[in-house]
Order: sequence, then structure tokens, then C-alpha cells
Amino acid sequence: MSKRKQISSVEASYVRKQDDYEGAGGFDLREVTAIAERDQYRKSKRARVRDGNKKASLGELMPENCDRCNNKMEESTLWSDYGFGICDGCREEHRGDYKLITKTDAKLVYLLKDEDLEYRQPALRYLLKKNPHNPRYGDMALYLEKQVEERSLSIYGDQGGLDLARKIADEKRSTRLVNKYKKQMNEIKRDIRAKEKFSKDYNLISHECTYQPEIYDEAKDEYSKRCDECQEVIKYQKI
Ligand SMILES: [Zn+2]
Ligand SMILES: [Zn+2]
Repeated sequence: MSKRKQISSVEASYVRKQDDYEGAGGFDLREVTAIAERDQYRKSKRARVRDGNKKASLGELMPENCDRCNNKMEESTLWSDYGFGICDGCREEHRGDYKLITKTDAKLVYLLKDEDLEYRQPALRYLLKKNPHNPRYGDMALYLEKQVEERSLSIYGDQGGLDLARKIADEKRSTRLVNKYKKQMNEIKRDIRAKEKFSKDYNLISHECTYQPEIYDEAKDEYSKRCDECQEVIKYQKI
């Protein structure tokens, strides 16, 4: 059996593509393999994280009653994913209250650091999801916003503390922006000055001197004339 016949049909289609594209250049079978491996790795990591969350929830005692409606808890996705004691019924009914938030937004909106989410006990749970904007980016870590908010409030004391911290962060951010802008302006100005100096120097060495009328120095019996542009003076005597 030839080697070609032993490979799977998916691989075969890659190889066919490679044959087709090779002439056009730029198609690399190794790249395709690397992407497939990466996707496979991410997929299994997503499952691993989700299973880990489920396992952690099983290890804890699920509250008998839902925190919100107080009915007996039957199924709870929020419990199994995030260890959050809200029943599926309430989650359905009040979706807006149980939104997920990306780690990036969690840090930005609730002024948290990685360690506030990951190391401060209990570490907040998250799920991994494919980035919808660009699959080349890594997976997004999705936190339950309610838990992120709770964490933030526990760090900043209360809503007032968080609001104050946000105000300070905003001011810092705008100061940073102004400074960045100033720096950029200075760089642009420096650039313009350098260009002006260059063109001035360049004009000086490349121009053809036009001399003013000659001046006679009686004491030295010497004539001179000056180029106003480059200030060059030539001196000469007439015999
Ligand atoms: Zn409920
Ligand atoms: Zn000149």
C-alpha cells in the first residue's frame, strides 16, 4: 500500500490542497497541521475547565433552595459551572442578571488584577470560549459578572469605594492620555525640526552661491564678496 493511501481523507484533502497551492506559493502543510493541533488543544482545554468546574461543584454541597426564588434546586447550570446557587428557572427568567463577562472586561470595569480573580480565595471560576472576533486569538475566559462584582466590592469595601476607585482610575487614565499625546506632539515637533534642519543644510551645500556686489578693502588691497544664503565669503586681489 502506498503511503498516500494510508492517510485519512482529511489529511488527504490537505495534501491535495497543498499540491494545488504549491504552485501559487505560500501554502504550508505544517501550518495547517499546527492550526489543527492548536484547535484540538484548545477544545480539550475548554472541556477540561468545564469538567473541573463540574467536579468542584459536585464536591460542594449544592444549596437545597435557589437563592432567588427559594424553590427547591433541581438543575442548575450556574451551580455546576460557577458554584452559584441560582436555579435554571431564575437564570432563564432574569438572564440580564447573570451575564458572563470576559476577563479583560472584568479587570477593566471592576478594577481587578489577575491575582484578584485567580489567587484570592476562593478563586473565581471561569469557562473558556472561542474568541468570536478572531480565532487566532486565544480563548476568552468568561467569568460570571455577579461574582466579579462581589469580588470587586469585597476589595473596595462597598459601591462607594468602587465608584471612588473608578473615578481615580479615570483621572489617571486621562492624565496618561494627555501625557502620551504631549509626548507624541514633542516627537512630531522634533521630527519636523530635524527635517527642516536637514533641508536647510541640504540647500546650503547644494545651492549655487549668488554673491553680493564685491567690496574693496583699501588697507589690505583686497576684494571680497559674500553669498547671503550660506555666508561664504571669497576674497581675492586684482593685479
Ligand atoms: Zn430560582
Ligand atoms: Zn552660498
